[in-house]
Amino acid sequence: MTASQPTQAIEGELAIRGGRPVREAYLPYGRQAIDDDDRAAVAAVLKSDWLTTGPKVAEFEEAFALAVGAREAVAVNSGTAALHAAMHALGIGPGDEVIVPCLTFAATANAAVYLGATPVFADVDPDTLLITAEAAARCLTPRTQAIVAVDYAGQAAEYEALRALAAKHALPLVSDSCHAVGGSYRGRKIGTLADLSTFSFHPVKHITTAEGGMITTEDAELARQMRIFRTHGITTDHHYRQAHGEWTYEMQTLGFNYRLSDFACALGLSQLPKLEGWVRRRNELADRYRAVLADLPQFVPLTVLPERTHAYHLFIVRCRTGDTGWTRDQIFPAMRAERIGVNVHYIPVHLHPFYRERFGTRPGQCPNAEAAYTEIMTLPLFPAMTDHDVDDVCRALRKVIAASPPASR
Ligand SMILES: *Cc1c(COP(=O)(O)O)cnc(C)c1O
Repeated sequence: MTASQPTQAIEGELAIRGGRPVREAYLPYGRQAIDDDDRAAVAAVLKSDWLTTGPKVAEFEEAFALAVGAREAVAVNSGTAALHAAMHALGIGPGDEVIVPCLTFAATANAAVYLGATPVFADVDPDTLLITAEAAARCLTPRTQAIVAVDYAGQAAEYEALRALAAKHALPLVSDSCHAVGGSYRGRKIGTLADLSTFSFHPVKHITTAEGGMITTEDAELARQMRIFRTHGITTDHHYRQAHGEWTYEMQTLGFNYRLSDFACALGLSQLPKLEGWVRRRNELADRYRAVLADLPQFVPLTVLPERTHAYHLFIVRCRTGDTGWTRDQIFPAMRAERIGVNVHYIPVHLHPFYRERFGTRPGQCPNAEAAYTEIMTLPLFPAMTDHDVDDVCRALRKVIAASPPASR
């Protein structure tokens, strides 16, 4: 900010045209919450003997499994590693096809590609932007080996229909639940609704370990395989060998180093008990957005389905601003200039050059997602936000569309 800006700023004018922004301080779209107890938990591990492959890993896994009601939880060092480990445990390989929704973070599809398989992109429901069983069914071929659902924005996918489809074709169902830890569907927690469920602990997600991820499952054999996969495909880890006075090990499969460190696990253990309160706060903030946006019909929140606890990783609106002359692509920089950290989740994965060139995907393939993509905008949402912050966001939206739109070229 230049020193002269506040005095020269024109009241009421858009910040992008030299006016005073709605906020002084930039409001990001997501942000971690780290307290003194989190810092103390990490510091304690840094003073201990085990920085990695120590006792905090199993402790975090057990606490996480308990929190979501799953039998097994396997910690890895990112949500992407979690997806890779899940696909590997299911035996996905060259020539296989994996059905994934097209509106997701690229990692959902990339995990299949790591194993030489082909992701097949299913369209999403126009109102919820969740993968539908009908769209998934249209992608089935004799090569299909798995179906992946994404709990987009934090809302559980249609698991009953997806499970029925998977069962009918004897296919495993994976949930990429990176948006939805702490959510539930018909009384069952996210993490228990698919054969394998994956989570991320990146700082914008609900709880963080800086980088980190987890896979939950009821299947102890799949969990065992994923623990081998995360440590080079080797049967025992350093901690086990030391405890048992052994030095021999076998490499049984080609694995990776996807281990999560003990201080990361300590941070996760410290964050986990706060999850429930944070999901509640995310819901309160989302309710406030919905109440204020009721008077701003140009910004339409995604539809919420019944029988769910929404985990609200993201609060997404569709910009139905055609009558005002503004497009989402024009509103976006205007909001950023007002110091509101709007974002877009996501560019449909099948439109990325990598997928178009490698797999021949093309525009027109997933019309619902492609239409949504031109309108969707993510508004800031994280537990430490105040009600006043929500009002600032809505004030900025109102200010932008009340102004004359940029001249069309
Ligand atoms: C965050 C995210 C991932 C990847 O998680 P990382 O921990 O960043 O590797 C995968 N899928 C979805 C839907 C995500 O939101």
